[in-house]
Amino acid sequence: MRLVFLGPPGVGKGTQAERLSKQYRVPHIATGDILRAAMANKTPVGLEAKSYIDAGKLVPDDVIINIIRERLKEHDTKEGYILDGFPRTIKQGEALSKTLEQSGEKIDRALYFELPEEELVKRIAGRRSCPACKKVYHTAFNPPPQEGVCTCGTALVQRKDDRPETVKERLAVYRNETAPLIQYYKERGLLSQIDADQSVEAVAKRVQDAIFQKKSS
Ligand SMILES: [Zn+2]
Repeated sequence: MRLVFLGPPGVGKGTQAERLSKQYRVPHIATGDILRAAMANKTPVGLEAKSYIDAGKLVPDDVIINIIRERLKEHDTKEGYILDGFPRTIKQGEALSKTLEQSGEKIDRALYFELPEEELVKRIAGRRSCPACKKVYHTAFNPPPQEGVCTCGTALVQRKDDRPETVKERLAVYRNETAPLIQYYKERGLLSQIDADQSVEAVAKRVQDAIFQKKSS
């Protein structure tokens, strides 16, 4: 089961990917996590990525593609995976198809999660992250037991990426870059659109339906 989860930041696709990953015992491969780890470990590609992110830019396709290719070679991907945050451009999508074709594989389904813009801004701007253990909270939906403090005792911060002024810009960039990719999967009959403006449970049900629909067809 090789799945691609598409959707803007804040849409909740990471939560859904995590659930599905546990259910089907396939890895949840989140580009953001892999990138952050590479940056924290100061690997060459991590440092390169950091220079773009610090400048408020997207990490170039080639850098991301190489990171993902390496990840997909690992043993735990044999039975499939859920890609979250990759591909996000048409170039990345084509590179992924090409990489898979070389080993006689393909993407089974691309799920596109949708949510109105004002809801996205609200969700993202409330995020608070722990710089120590990386746990993520939300001021409204998932507050820490003590305001502003992680359960590990560290003071929570708002990531630069999650500040309202940055969020609107990120969303505009996202839509611009990803619209052709959505079309790309649509043309190949692989796309399922998921209305994410519902409870986590209700969205999970739609995700199941989308995957089941594929399996029975
Ligand atoms: Zn913590």
